[in-house]
Amino acid sequence: MRLSEISTGESAVVVKLLGHGAFRKRLIEMGFVKGQEIKVLLNAPLKDPIKYSIMGYELSLRRQEAELIEVVQLLDHDSFHTKPEEVRLQTEQSDETAPKKDFIRSAKTINIALIGNPNCGKTSLFNFVSGSREHVGNYSGVTVDAKEGHFNYNGYQFNIVDLPGTYSLSCYSPEELYVRRFLLNETPDVIVNVVVSSNLERNLYLTTELIDMDRSMVIALNMYDELERSGAKLDYKLLGEMIGVPMVPTVSRTGQGIDQLLDAVIRVYEGEHGAVRHVHVNLGHELEQSVNSIKNALKADPSVLPHFSPRYMAIKLLERDTEIDSLISRSMQHSNILSLRDQETARLEHIFSDSGNDMSSLIAHEKYGFISGALAETYTPASQQAENTTHIIDAFVTNKLFGFPLFMLVMWFMFWCTFEIGSYPQEWIQHAVDWLNSAIHSYFPAGPFKDLLADGIIGGVGGV
Ligand code: GDP
Ligand code: MG
Repeated sequence: MRLSEISTGESAVVVKLLGHGAFRKRLIEMGFVKGQEIKVLLNAPLKDPIKYSIMGYELSLRRQEAELIEVVQLLDHDSFHTKPEEVRLQTEQSDETAPKKDFIRSAKTINIALIGNPNCGKTSLFNFVSGSREHVGNYSGVTVDAKEGHFNYNGYQFNIVDLPGTYSLSCYSPEELYVRRFLLNETPDVIVNVVVSSNLERNLYLTTELIDMDRSMVIALNMYDELERSGAKLDYKLLGEMIGVPMVPTVSRTGQGIDQLLDAVIRVYEGEHGAVRHVHVNLGHELEQSVNSIKNALKADPSVLPHFSPRYMAIKLLERDTEIDSLISRSMQHSNILSLRDQETARLEHIFSDSGNDMSSLIAHEKYGFISGALAETYTPASQQAENTTHIIDAFVTNKLFGFPLFMLVMWFMFWCTFEIGSYPQEWIQHAVDWLNSAIHSYFPAGPFKDLLADGIIGGVGGV
């Protein structure tokens, strides 16, 4: 059955995504992967859009979009728990290293880039450290291009760039492309991956892509205040060790933890941080085999690997990322590489044919498995989530019975304001127009000019 057929209050588990292209990719990044539990929270009064809860956050889909998600309904009302997948970490140091510094920089200058989902607090952090006043907002799309700032800390000069919010590093949206091109062309010394502490499962998806890229990185566990307030617990030291990236709790709105974050950035830059190691987000035996063989083919021609790591390129080739395909087309080896990719895709499609998933879904599924495995060992959710004000208001204004009457009441109130309260200024304007008219009558001699002024302009504008 389709997700759109599940009624309010019921839960379902994702079986498969239909449709294709950018929208499908976005759904995957948002967490609609096989095995995820979704709860229907609300149907808008005209049954469109529908609000869902998935991976601990809420989002709305149009009915038409929800029709593209195949699910099985959960009949018992007990929550469904996916067995946390085994954390598959490969601990040995990797043999691949993407070139990190393409030109010589002054030893005491650190270039950092802020990368994270929309609304995770990048601009707040940027403003705090650089003393800027860039616009901060709790709606997406506030940051449309990169902002640059500078500051000094502990004897280092920092150049910091605030990048647009993005859910992944593919090529489906202008933001994703922008961030990826920035990483390709500017090669920052240290990436600060800003994540929302209370929504790690989804936020860490982007982190897995950055890990594939194999860049120097520190994670800012932002909005840590909200995590603490909710009562959830996170062993961030252990989580940081598991994924090989140092994690520092921050509250970028107040500046809490930012000094520690910058200290960690300096230690990573100087190569002194103990928690840094290269980890493979293991994609399972079959996918890894394909990634490795494409990776080896890529290594045969170093000219195609200017800045991205071979592993990242190999994964993106399997996902049929058009920009990476065109990067490859410059290589002398491109026909070899692309035919190897097609061969590996065919092999994987054969192996995973009963799952009905394409390469992007298979890879995303493995990545989410990795994340939930790592979180299962380090994160303890709060026992009871407090109802917040928004939920209470929502419960009333979108209620089946109260929704429409409340809507009518609001409309009535608007009309009442217009006519009742509006009648006072209306009166004042009328008086002013009358006064102006009588003044014109007494000062101007009769004639077409007076008629134009009094009846045409004053009368017309006054009427309006
Ligand atoms: P951006 O889209 O990543 O640039 O995020 P913004 O900096 O615009 O912040 C989005 C919203 O989150 C704003 O309303 C901020 O005030 C709020 N915010 C940012 N950092 C924190 C934090 O550490 N704690 C809390 N509670 N709110 C934060
Ligand atoms: Mg911003």
